[in-house]
Amino acid sequence: MPVELSTSGPPPLEFSSNVFSQHDLGPERDIADKCAVFGIYDGGGADVAEATAMGLFALQHRGQESSGVTSSDGDTIFDHRRGGLVAQIYDETVFDFASLPGPIALGHNRYGTSSRKLGPDAHIQPIISGDRSFSLAHNGNIPDTTALETFLDSKGIRNPQDNDTEMMHAAVAYYVSRGASLEDGLREAAPLFTGAYSLLAMDNERLIALRDPKGIRPLSIGRYNGAYVFSSETTGLDIIGAGNLRDVRPGEMVIVDQGGFRSEQIAPGEQRLDIFEYVYFAHPGSNLLERNVSVVRGRFGEILAQEHPADADLVVPVPLTAEPAAIGFHDASGIPLKQGIVKNRYVGRTFITPGEKQRSNAINQKLHAIPEVVGGQRVVVVDDSIVRGATSRNIVRMLREAGAREVHMRITSPPIYYPDFYGIDTPRQESLLASKRSIEEMRQFINADSLGYLSLEGMMRAVGVPEGMLSTSSFTGEYPVDIGRRREEVVFDPSWQRS
Ligand code: AMP
Repeated sequence: MPVELSTSGPPPLEFSSNVFSQHDLGPERDIADKCAVFGIYDGGGADVAEATAMGLFALQHRGQESSGVTSSDGDTIFDHRRGGLVAQIYDETVFDFASLPGPIALGHNRYGTSSRKLGPDAHIQPIISGDRSFSLAHNGNIPDTTALETFLDSKGIRNPQDNDTEMMHAAVAYYVSRGASLEDGLREAAPLFTGAYSLLAMDNERLIALRDPKGIRPLSIGRYNGAYVFSSETTGLDIIGAGNLRDVRPGEMVIVDQGGFRSEQIAPGEQRLDIFEYVYFAHPGSNLLERNVSVVRGRFGEILAQEHPADADLVVPVPLTAEPAAIGFHDASGIPLKQGIVKNRYVGRTFITPGEKQRSNAINQKLHAIPEVVGGQRVVVVDDSIVRGATSRNIVRMLREAGAREVHMRITSPPIYYPDFYGIDTPRQESLLASKRSIEEMRQFINADSLGYLSLEGMMRAVGVPEGMLSTSSFTGEYPVDIGRRREEVVFDPSWQRS
């Protein structure tokens, strides 16, 4: 639940490198969706870059390729943007926060789903305008950039190398260069942003948050020591001791400046948060639509145990995302829960490793089954999703090699039939295991003794908000934000809708 607003918060934060020197980066997984945004405006004039980096640290799970912060002291926009992890980029032994002065700051962690070949130094956000008058950062994806491209072409300012965020930035810069304020520039350009976005922008006077009319990706507002804070997830507010005020509403623009906090509904909004935030992306400590993610995942597991019971000796979670769900499965089934698979915390990015063979090697390096725990046992193994199937297949194999007598795979989401276009990077439809195989064929592919998926209805019950408030596109093919010409890439099969 949102907490009461308080203007007297905890004392100013020290951004200790100790926080970063612990090797467990805290958040739960190796790779997540495309990006996190975090920003602070402190009306009292205190420097805020350090707290912004702290917020980015709490949001590391949303993007691990690069990170950047811009700040303003009222006259100049400063920046620090690098490839790598937050812990390294803002480590005070190599970086001095005095170079990011000022009471306005915005930060971004990137998980690049476009132009990966260019490496971690490409497309780092926030993006700064050529005249350094403003910066902008974005979480989400514009599936069809035709409107943006047409606009930029018509003005003769399109750079073919630009990704979606850079095009959004260029459209806003066009209006700003012609004298519009940043908020007017955003308002003018927003109709060109035909997709999912939770966006922050700042100049020397203000910090602005803007969320797409369907609110596909999360964005929360907090209060801290009299400052306003925007964070992709509430866990970013928690880490700096900020109170959670409310979400930026779908279609809403929030402006914070010397005059305080203003809000404007720039397009009619309808909440359709991506349900995959609960399944996989969001940190378990975060609250989305006032539901705690870990609690929801626990209920996924409980309902999964009712829908697909298993005659087994042990429940084993696939670390780390599925742990609350495995606890829920154990609670509902009474089957003992044990850590039968451990994760190497230093391996990352198995999901985006190119090629099946490399992916499977990476999974083997990351996960390890414990023979002393699973040997001779009938194991129920709980994971959050099957995308291409490489992870599940390897997990079943490693459990069998470790001596498991039976392996029953349980998945805390429905089969993924449809690709994502809103920034979570589930691949082309033909690579999705469920799009070309029946449940029985998938069971055979992963070589499990049984395979059970949580139903969409069960999932909705677990989240506990009306289905209309969520985007379920990966499971149903119902894309709440038009995907434009990308529809041509998708095969819609009605028999999949509710299986
Ligand atoms: P796969 O091996 O392709 O079936 O990937 C499934 C695994 O990737 C599951 O264990 C999930 O935890 C994880 N996963 C699911 N969706 C994503 C995503 N969009 N990005 C990164 N990892 C994901």
